[in-house]
Amino acid sequence: MSFPVQKSDAQWQAELASKQAESVAFQVTRHAATERPFTGKYEAHWADGSYHCICCGAKLFDSDTKFDAGCGWPSFSEAIPGAIQENVDRSHGMVRVETVCAQCGAHLGHVFPDGPQPTGLRYCMNSAALDFEKQD
Ligand SMILES: [Zn+2]
Repeated sequence: MSFPVQKSDAQWQAELASKQAESVAFQVTRHAATERPFTGKYEAHWADGSYHCICCGAKLFDSDTKFDAGCGWPSFSEAIPGAIQENVDRSHGMVRVETVCAQCGAHLGHVFPDGPQPTGLRYCMNSAALDFEKQD
């Protein structure tokens, strides 16, 4: 797969360090790790603004689509159109839909078909993959 934004592991590590990303951010975004539930900084974060890819800064979600799914990870019912690419993920003996940043390929989390209407979707994201920008 090729994404518009390409960097080496070393470059991503430097990029994330410069943004003071969480220590798990590199493993999550570049190696599809999952942060432990109820540990992420955005899990219970309800300010108005937008959520961006921690790696490349692409806008992924508006705060008004964030909802409390009670699952321990920040959850959204709708993504910014075109911002996210979906891949079938057959790891861990399950079939899930992985979500990655369409610009840089960063692993963000998974999307499940059990979210609220009208989309019926639950984008279950890792806080460490997101960067919040407050609305003025
Ligand atoms: Zn990105």
